[in-house]
Amino acid sequence: MTKSFQIAVFDGDGIGPEIMGPTVAILNAMAKKSDAYDLVFTNLPAGAAYYAQTGDGLPAESIRKASKSDAILLSAMGLPEVRYPDGTEISPQIDLRKEFNLFAGVRPVRVVPGGLTPLKMPEGKSIDFVLIRESTEGLFHTQGTGEVTEDYARETLQITRSVSEKLFAFAFNLANDRKAQGRGPGRVTCVDKANVFRSFAYFRGIFDEEAARHPNLTADHAYVDATALWMVQKPWDFDVMVTENMFGDILSDLGAGLMGGLGLAPSADIGLHQAVFQPCHGSAPDIAGEGKANPFAMILSAAMMLEWLGTKHDIAAMLGDAAKIRTAVDAAVANKTSVTADLGGSSTTSQAAAAIELAVT
Ligand code: ATP
Repeated sequence: MTKSFQIAVFDGDGIGPEIMGPTVAILNAMAKKSDAYDLVFTNLPAGAAYYAQTGDGLPAESIRKASKSDAILLSAMGLPEVRYPDGTEISPQIDLRKEFNLFAGVRPVRVVPGGLTPLKMPEGKSIDFVLIRESTEGLFHTQGTGEVTEDYARETLQITRSVSEKLFAFAFNLANDRKAQGRGPGRVTCVDKANVFRSFAYFRGIFDEEAARHPNLTADHAYVDATALWMVQKPWDFDVMVTENMFGDILSDLGAGLMGGLGLAPSADIGLHQAVFQPCHGSAPDIAGEGKANPFAMILSAAMMLEWLGTKHDIAAMLGDAAKIRTAVDAAVANKTSVTADLGGSSTTSQAAAAIELAVT
């Protein structure tokens, strides 16, 4: 029986629409070939260009429709010259995180043998770990409302039991799924600074409570400074890492650097009921409209969406199609065939995406 999914699509700003169009085409082509699932796409307005036209960066109607969808695909958003009156950028992706309580920011880092990385990889090693960044509290708790006086400035870091419990349950479940798929040893590392801050000792304590519920998995801890070092020295040792919002913000860019840059870095922001899939990079206004944008981070984000839906609804074909996309992108990157200029090739956005579509259908 075919299961149909409603996908809300936000095209975004700058290169956003250029990378979203071919990504939806790939998903459509795969879904058409499958009798296990079908995807129905609905475009919703939001973003900086939309704000410039209408004075609204994320219409309530878009939020309402997105909340009713099965998943949300979101391209790069925001334009540096378009700002709210308080000077901040239009960032519907951050608004959606708050609106839908998307506490788990999932940032996979993968480098296959022959893949792009600034590291010297030992023979036979590959990198495949997932960094989970808590995305609704931590040091972002007072984002936009921090106290600034003539003499001092103050922000508050908040860790709550309710969010941390959901976050750690998510991390251990992910490690379990990865272990079942043969993608990891089943290990979760809590990244913190529990030796210095009481709030992080609290964070770690809740992690340990969740770890006790998963005797089949390995749980360990690492300080964030040491983690930065190990991500460069031995990134192949990690499986699932889970951390606070600001630490995760920084480490996820380090992760993107390990795998050859932002053009290859996908992401997902996941809550209990909704999830948003989008590339890690911004709207790259400097190259917008030139056909130079690398579509792979967007396409890999779409693969994460298929994987999330497939796991949630127990549809193996969706997991298979997600893996097909990853394999096709890995091969293109390793062979330097049909890749855009940022990866050392000469293909346009549409040529790079068309090669992936051809490989997966
Ligand atoms: P934001 O703050 O919105 O994340 P940013 O200021 O970090 O944005 P990006 O828009 O991500 O910046 O762009 C940073 C650089 O990377 C720019 O030179 C841009 O052209 C390049 N870049 C970003 N995404 C891509 C992509 N998909 N393909 C090619 N180049 C890209």
